[in-house]
Amino acid sequence: NAIDYDKVDEHTKFLIFPISVIGCGKTTTSQALINLFPESWGHIQNDDITGKDKSQLMKKSLELLAKQEMRCVIVDRNNHQFRERKQLFEWLDELKENYLAYDTNIKVIGVSFAAHDKLSEIRDITMQRVIKRGNNHQSIKWDELGEKKVLGIMNGFLKRYQPICLGRSPDNLFDLMIELDFGEKDSSLTNVKQILNEIHKAYPILIPDIPTPDRIDAAFRKSLEYKPTVRKI
Ligand code: GDP
Ligand code: MG
Repeated sequence: NAIDYDKVDEHTKFLIFPISVIGCGKTTTSQALINLFPESWGHIQNDDITGKDKSQLMKKSLELLAKQEMRCVIVDRNNHQFRERKQLFEWLDELKENYLAYDTNIKVIGVSFAAHDKLSEIRDITMQRVIKRGNNHQSIKWDELGEKKVLGIMNGFLKRYQPICLGRSPDNLFDLMIELDFGEKDSSLTNVKQILNEIHKAYPILIPDIPTPDRIDAAFRKSLEYKPTVRKI
């Protein structure tokens, strides 16, 4: 029996791959979504992975996704280059059957956080945010690295950034692409709302009802207080 991968039903599982640079709000947006769906959505951060095996990011994500109640896992990494996006799809292919039944249907949703035509605003705002984030990050510790190093790391990501290009591999492998706009004020709140709306439209089985604005607001406010638990380096 051939597996019908187009069929989306209550057994379908979802992965979200962000495309971003540092400070665009991946972790904040992810935490807000997890606050809304604590039982069925998960969040694995590359910044929480210590040790040499980089594929642990995908292994941990699939391990979490394999839990019966889990429907969607956010694989939180910048993936700012084609090479990194390709690597995620390759790991997924390679490792999927070690964690999930061979006939599990997985849909991959891309979320582009850094609009290609807003890079100078993104640079200004993310730098202000990361200064304010201070030491509240797994590896980018303001006090230890200092301004010059942190801004250097951030600029490196901006310089190497390859925005999504849906016509070519690997970006043509996404089942759905959500292209966020980058606004200055509470962009993560706007992001959460857009993500909920677009997933609800494309995959109502995953989000049958959009949570009320009050619940979304509360989930966002809680996510702003997020503190990492792992220390890297
Ligand atoms: P990441 O590097 O993409 O994971 O970015 P983070 O989610 O860590 O966000 C960087 C910093 O900006 C953190 O200190 C967040 O609390 C803050 N931040 C993210 N989104 C918003 C937002 O919508 N409003 C405000 N006021 N701060 C935000
Ligand atoms: Mg982060």
